[in-house]
Amino acid sequence: VFNFSAGPAMLPLPVLEQARDEMLCLPGVGASVLEISHRSPAFIAIIEAAEANLRTLLGVPDDYAILFLQGGGRLQFWMTAANLIGDLGAQKGKSADYLLTGSWGKQAMAEAKKAGPVRVAYDSSATNFDRLPAPFCEGAAKMDLDPDAAYVHYTCNETIQGVQFPTEPDTGGVPLVCDASSDFLHKPLDISKYGLIYACAQKNAGPAGVTIVVVKKDLVANASPDLPVYCNYNTHIADNSLNNTPPTFSIYIVKLVTEWLMQEFGDLKAVHHHNQKKAGLLYDVLDASPDFYIGHAQPGCRSLMNVAFRLPSDDLTDAFLSGAKKRNLTDLKGHRSVGGARASIYNAMPIEGVEALRDYMVEFRSEQG
Ligand code: PLP
Repeated sequence: VFNFSAGPAMLPLPVLEQARDEMLCLPGVGASVLEISHRSPAFIAIIEAAEANLRTLLGVPDDYAILFLQGGGRLQFWMTAANLIGDLGAQKGKSADYLLTGSWGKQAMAEAKKAGPVRVAYDSSATNFDRLPAPFCEGAAKMDLDPDAAYVHYTCNETIQGVQFPTEPDTGGVPLVCDASSDFLHKPLDISKYGLIYACAQKNAGPAGVTIVVVKKDLVANASPDLPVYCNYNTHIADNSLNNTPPTFSIYIVKLVTEWLMQEFGDLKAVHHHNQKKAGLLYDVLDASPDFYIGHAQPGCRSLMNVAFRLPSDDLTDAFLSGAKKRNLTDLKGHRSVGGARASIYNAMPIEGVEALRDYMVEFRSEQG
């Protein structure tokens, strides 16, 4: 089965096989990874390797910490704001700018508002989040940025709408806070452009249960010690993500996924190239039949990870989805706020899966006359 779920999503087969082989007994340890203390030398070696792999793949400099947290992307919606704005934030007195380019960014802002003052600096909800600000999308409104903002929050890939920033928005020096939950590790990043990046792992980086945060240490250094201990980034920076019991199994899988990326592709440039090739196969089908497969994202902001499109009617959508299932192409139903279909093609989706979907789409179109 090729599973096009938006997440939790497919994991690389070699990762699943290694996890199966090591499930009862980690080599050299004599116990399962599920049974060992998070303070044991064996687990410390795993978490350190996961961090080192991420540092290598993304080129993360030493003045940034890499944290392995729980609570998913949703806890980060509030936690980023609580550490930076509001009474307990490192930049108390300032407000934060939000770019609303999809459902997740909107939810991120709603949670942040509970921690401190926020402003909308861009909002494409009037067109059901189908575009990015100019200059990314021609004819779209520009961002309205506050030069004194504590940070600019954006969602680099909106999983539901399939709208992705091709590169970072220019904030004129205001720190960028980025929700990279659904495209983390899909291409190289210039980390120095970011104040903080967070990503739940269950799409591109591993299984559910762990959320990876890459944070510039001095950005959050002045967050108040009155924040709940778990919700203060400085706790996890000081304790190397071992203040409480971390999601040990999920971190172990992140280690295997990052090893797989390095062995299979070498670097994230090659991963990006592969993702462009995969997404191109599907967008070519959309472009060949724009009245039949109606892409949601406007040109200039199409996602390489989530290809969202509608068909001309609900009946055709149902027929498309059930025909796909018969071919073992599953989880293609679009989110209810967009409708239609959505193919999530993260790093672990092999090109054979995308080719099988492409062939089915071409056939289904021609069958309809
Ligand atoms: N942000 C984005 C872009 C997402 O796609 C998701 C989940 O799909 C989330 C945040 C929420 O993550 P979680 O379910 O881990 O809280």
